[in-house]
Amino acid sequence: MNSERTMIPPAKPIIGQDERDAVDRVLASGMVAQGPEVAAFEQEFSAALAGGREVVAVNSGTSGQHLGMLGLGLGAGGEVIVPSFTFAATANSVAVCGGTPVFVDVDPETFTVDPAAIEAAITERTVGIQPVHLYGHPAEMDRICAIAEAHGLWVFEDAAQAHGASWQGSPVGTFGDGAMYSLYPTKNMTSGEGGMVACGTAELARQVRLLRNQGMETQYANEVAGYNNRMTDIHAAIGRVQLGKLPAWTTTRQQNAAYFDAHLRGVVAPVVREAASHVYHQYTVRIEGASAAERDAFATALREEHQVGCGVYYPTPVHRLATFRVERDLPVTEMLAREVLSLPVHPSISAEDRERIVEAVNTVARAGA
Ligand SMILES: *Cc1c(COP(=O)(O)O)cnc(C)c1O
Repeated sequence: MNSERTMIPPAKPIIGQDERDAVDRVLASGMVAQGPEVAAFEQEFSAALAGGREVVAVNSGTSGQHLGMLGLGLGAGGEVIVPSFTFAATANSVAVCGGTPVFVDVDPETFTVDPAAIEAAITERTVGIQPVHLYGHPAEMDRICAIAEAHGLWVFEDAAQAHGASWQGSPVGTFGDGAMYSLYPTKNMTSGEGGMVACGTAELARQVRLLRNQGMETQYANEVAGYNNRMTDIHAAIGRVQLGKLPAWTTTRQQNAAYFDAHLRGVVAPVVREAASHVYHQYTVRIEGASAAERDAFATALREEHQVGCGVYYPTPVHRLATFRVERDLPVTEMLAREVLSLPVHPSISAEDRERIVEAVNTVARAGA
């Protein structure tokens, strides 16, 4: 049925001639490792998205989390409170610092970490909190920062999916002691692979710069045992072009989401808090009351009967992955892992695609009701 229609992909990086030209310029220069493009990208990213905070570019978002939290002093024995309903990197980055992720539940409407659950999980070993601006909806940063301050904890924001999102008028990435943005190809903007660390203090920025480059600020005067997590000028050149295109892409994502909000029936649309500006890395609906198998069947029907690509982020709560496997009672996380389904909202979908997506979802929802 309808096999002549092309599949609408769930995500699609947009790489144009401008990106190619930028890469070509770097290749022609003969200087391709970390250099002036990276420095310029850091400056431009800081001004555009991080409220002027000092930004350090690294080779992935995960590296950014790793170095950022090392820079904040995370080590063996330190507990960091994280949501379980997220991508595994949120918790992996805590673990590779030697710390222990302590998994808590999320808000069923915004899918972001529940501040009350954070407060309840604090122990004398807690050193920090890593909220996630999941799908591009900011976490409740005012409450989270107040809790952190009351308990002497640092906050490191996982803004991997939330470039340009804001909470109470301030951009994500500017609330915590530090923050990471991912530049993986499916994110709202890309550099191929890459990550940016926004730093709340000059000292954190210095630490991340040291750890990124073998512990050196001055060549061959290594101060600490560091890594090679540098970004290349090739990647930075792509990122700089994408940064310029991000505002228009974000607007298109928001327009696509508004269309879905107005026309989808039979699924629970994502909630946006009044204080939030949502950048829709994903447009994630809930198939209310569904089992995981029923949700998966919904997704299969969208793909196979309607050629609408879709994704499940994330089918297994991180605390139940083989890596961590801890006993926690996180009922909202479990419910969302069963019910969520993300529809294509990226800026490459056309007005006709949007209509097809709505028609497909409403048809599958009616059939299942
Ligand atoms: C993508 C992502 C990361 C990791 O970023 P990479 O650039 O892929 O290393 C971390 N957290 C979340 C929530 C993500 O979506």
